[in-house]
Amino acid sequence: MQKKKTSKTETAQALTAYQVIAKKRDGEELEASSIKWFIDSFTQGKIPDYQMASLLMAIYLKGMTTSETAAMTDCMLYSGKVLDFADATVVDKHSTGGVGDKTSFLIAPLAAACGVKVPMVAGRGLGHTGGTVDKIEAIPNFRTNLSLEEFADQLVKEGMVLIGQTKDIAPADGKIYALRDVTATIESIPLITASIMSKKLAEGASGLVLDIKAGRGAFMKNLSRARALAKSLRETSLRFNRNIMTSITDMNQPLGETIGHSMELIECFEILKGRGPKDLTDVSLHLAGGMVHLAGKAKTLEAGIAKVKKALKSGQGLSMMKHLIELQGGNSEVLNDYTLLPSASKRTYVTSSQDGYLSLIDPITLGLGLIQLGGGRNSKEDKIDFGVGIKCLKKVGAKIKKGTPLLEIHHHEYQSVLAQKLAQHFIQDAITISPKMPEIPNLIVETQIKWSPSCTKN
Ligand code: URA
Repeated sequence: MQKKKTSKTETAQALTAYQVIAKKRDGEELEASSIKWFIDSFTQGKIPDYQMASLLMAIYLKGMTTSETAAMTDCMLYSGKVLDFADATVVDKHSTGGVGDKTSFLIAPLAAACGVKVPMVAGRGLGHTGGTVDKIEAIPNFRTNLSLEEFADQLVKEGMVLIGQTKDIAPADGKIYALRDVTATIESIPLITASIMSKKLAEGASGLVLDIKAGRGAFMKNLSRARALAKSLRETSLRFNRNIMTSITDMNQPLGETIGHSMELIECFEILKGRGPKDLTDVSLHLAGGMVHLAGKAKTLEAGIAKVKKALKSGQGLSMMKHLIELQGGNSEVLNDYTLLPSASKRTYVTSSQDGYLSLIDPITLGLGLIQLGGGRNSKEDKIDFGVGIKCLKKVGAKIKKGTPLLEIHHHEYQSVLAQKLAQHFIQDAITISPKMPEIPNLIVETQIKWSPSCTKN
């Protein structure tokens, strides 16, 4: 099942590290061999952080061609183990990250219930955005650190697995990402493409559904940047013979109603029981429907969505979630008894200071506020408090009166002063009330599907 292949590009050191950096700084196209040599040497510790950081900044400023991006993806992909299931029904989804983005907990069980094999290797929280792996770890005893062998075995036998990033998968990305995070080079389209694609290709999926978040709370702040990233991801995916669906979805306000680890899980469990916010449900059904279609289990995207809706209504999605929790050692009683999840007992409310329409709930301000409560990390070593969180009691567009509660902060008794300060900060900086109904952006902006010529379209 597990294959170690070698990269398509040959190692040949024609230029020094200095020359490679200078060439990119001057806007020239790099040879695949130079990219491979640079990345390999950095991963092995032979090129220092300061030279890698310089190259990353040059790429950030000058960009990369499709060929350069593919070469970078290729050597990052083969920096670790590469799985190949040779199975068209193995399809994964990845999101570029947002606030309150918890779709994985709906998509994985729903797509699996429709016959898709879902190999999720998920990330931890990053900046103001939360991470799928941190969230699922709020479930007592849930194991996210399966070995790659256990991962492959569970996928083949059970059709669904969710783990955290391992050192075995695209280790070059781990090292480069850590450097990007502290050198203001995250928001680069070729670097994001190589980072996402190297990890996803290494998991052995035949198809990929990519949720590209656009808006205030996303790395891509506007539609044209989101479109450019979607195009870059599609082009790279096709070069590696993978079927792909890209969807651009709105991230101008938190997705769903909750931010915070236990609260987000509960929100998903409620949706799997047939209750819960429409925006989160709609995005999840759309993305899971795309996976069902790419896996060949439905002729069209619409038919895929219809299948997923049926799995939700029938309770199959909920049963699959229970099965996933049990497979990975977690206590599935959490589905019936939410008190088994960590929680915070105190509530502080953010109320409207005037009549009008809610026209902005800034996702970044809320995401950073959650970190202050302990629901995120300031440094790699920080332990997350799964119980704290923020509930959006109203969504953008709601008509409100002065005094209407807008946000509910869940915190511990000892955090009461901090929660009051945050409530004031949110009303000043995160919330806007306007006299006119605001324009509400489309939730699912656009979707494109590309079939790789060498993969069968089912
Ligand atoms: N998610 C990733 O995995 N990598 C990036 O570079 C950005 C978002």
